[in-house]
Amino acid sequence: MDSRPLHPAVFSAIILRKSLDRPAHLENAMPLVDAFGRTIDYMRVSVTDRCNFRCVYCMPEEGITTAPAECMLTFEEIVRIVQVAASLGISKVRITGGEPLVRKDLPTLVQALAAIPGIQDLAMTTNGYLLGRYATELASCGLKRVNVSLDTLRPDRFPRVARRGDLQTVLDGIAAAMKANLTPVKINVVAMRGINDDEVADFARLTLERPINVRFIELMPINWAAGDDDLNSLVSLVARNRIHRQTSAGLGTLADSLEADALPGNSGMLDASQMRKLFVSAAELRKRIEAECGPLVPSELPGNGPAYTFRLRGGQGTVGFISQISHDACLRCNRIRLTADGHLRPCLMTQGEINVRDRLRARADDAEIAHLIRQTVLRKPLEHNLDKGAAPTGRTMNQLGG
Ligand code: SAM
Repeated sequence: MDSRPLHPAVFSAIILRKSLDRPAHLENAMPLVDAFGRTIDYMRVSVTDRCNFRCVYCMPEEGITTAPAECMLTFEEIVRIVQVAASLGISKVRITGGEPLVRKDLPTLVQALAAIPGIQDLAMTTNGYLLGRYATELASCGLKRVNVSLDTLRPDRFPRVARRGDLQTVLDGIAAAMKANLTPVKINVVAMRGINDDEVADFARLTLERPINVRFIELMPINWAAGDDDLNSLVSLVARNRIHRQTSAGLGTLADSLEADALPGNSGMLDASQMRKLFVSAAELRKRIEAECGPLVPSELPGNGPAYTFRLRGGQGTVGFISQISHDACLRCNRIRLTADGHLRPCLMTQGEINVRDRLRARADDAEIAHLIRQTVLRKPLEHNLDKGAAPTGRTMNQLGG
């Protein structure tokens, strides 16, 4: 730990909790198990809806509406909720956003979260742009590891996809994270047809010489439910991939072979029909990597969440696939979410949010917060249900935390 003074309120929250350790009324609490028997031990905590990038599939370039400051949870409030969650069995916390590193004084929050009894794994998802500045401090405050989102290794392409920042600064950030032992470092890549899918083998090759773990994430239909037509197309896209899944072992086979439309201009973001055309299934990515780099051998990477993990022969790192659309990542889901404006959310794709912020500000005690967390867990659906017409409306990805 470093010797920086803690924010007084965070400090007193830690001291209070340390002295109480596990509250007596929660002492015999049942672990968090959802209605389908999944144990929930992971909370993703979004600390802001703001971001210093404008990735084409995530946020429009201009005209962002961000929540007013008074709606945002304070650090003290976040710590309090996580303390109660930890007393119920949450042992893993991932800080996300928006871009978490744009939240002022974030290391202070990291330090407070790391001190909560029961939190064994404290990680962060970031676009990496500010990691060069903060990696060492974050590590000394108790952060264990980072996932860095990076969709291209080509400097000229970077501004077209992220529309802010530059590649070299992100690469420097990744190097700083490795140097600070924020490991294993994972690089999350959203593969998009005609935009960056010609780079998947380059990403996979990064794992040959360095202990880097690259994970390909299928483009997800956040905000695709723009209208009936869009929703129907989405339902058929999911259904098509499910049929493939059922007829092949492990990952499914190729979905669409549509050529991508041009990227949006400097304003706006990809619309529903563009996103559908850009979708590349994990199975197709795997085939393309194997064609160029040789076989991918099943491997393990502790804490790799819903990813299917492989290794190239002789590789130091791993190659993973997160296939929410074409595969049942949901069946292994162990998480709930806390949004930056203080709502507990049972599932990325499903509403069912519970406003914990207002209860907290109305002086809810730990037992009431614990009840709200349990209610959230019980609201978890078995699957995202996109193929049954569920529409992930309500929030954009930067508001949800990815
Ligand atoms: N700013 C941080 C970052 O870049 O990692 C955290 C927030 S970002 C919303 C979290 C993750 O969500 C990123 O890896 C991003 O690529 C991913 N993401 C955003 N929109 C997505 C979409 N429609 N489909 C798949 N992944 C998406």
